[in-house]
Amino acid sequence: MEAHSLISGPGVQSEGIHQTSKKLIPNCKGKGFTDLFYGDYYDLREEPQDEKLERETKAKEVCSTCPLIKPCRTFALRKEEDYGVWGGMTPGERREFLKWYKTYYPNVSLWDEDRIDKLVDRWKKRHRKKQTKAESTIPRRFH
Ligand code: SF4
Repeated sequence: MEAHSLISGPGVQSEGIHQTSKKLIPNCKGKGFTDLFYGDYYDLREEPQDEKLERETKAKEVCSTCPLIKPCRTFALRKEEDYGVWGGMTPGERREFLKWYKTYYPNVSLWDEDRIDKLVDRWKKRHRKKQTKAESTIPRRFH
């Protein structure tokens, strides 16, 4: 089974993406990636953090060279999709991004893939800076 092939599989809900992208083949199509993108636990809360981080990092690598990364990501953001890595973003990242976006850029349409793409880049930079700052305030013995 595919992860979220935008041509068939879980990602096909969006006819819009299918229409505009039907000549592009998603990297996750037909590769048996479902567990990689969604995890292999019936109750997702049971997935150990380190396992989840490793899985999501690998899934993001698959997305990073996918020709459909922008439509896939904006689709998941518009749908406020709760599960799976879509367009290189985890569910937690999408939630955080949407909170930030709704606070600072509520007038940018989620249908505007290019602007959303730039906002995601901006958010990632801020997010990384915040993480680095938080890590640097952790006492050395916990590193
Ligand atoms: S961006 Fe990732 S999840 Fe979306 S279609 Fe491409 S490989 Fe699949």
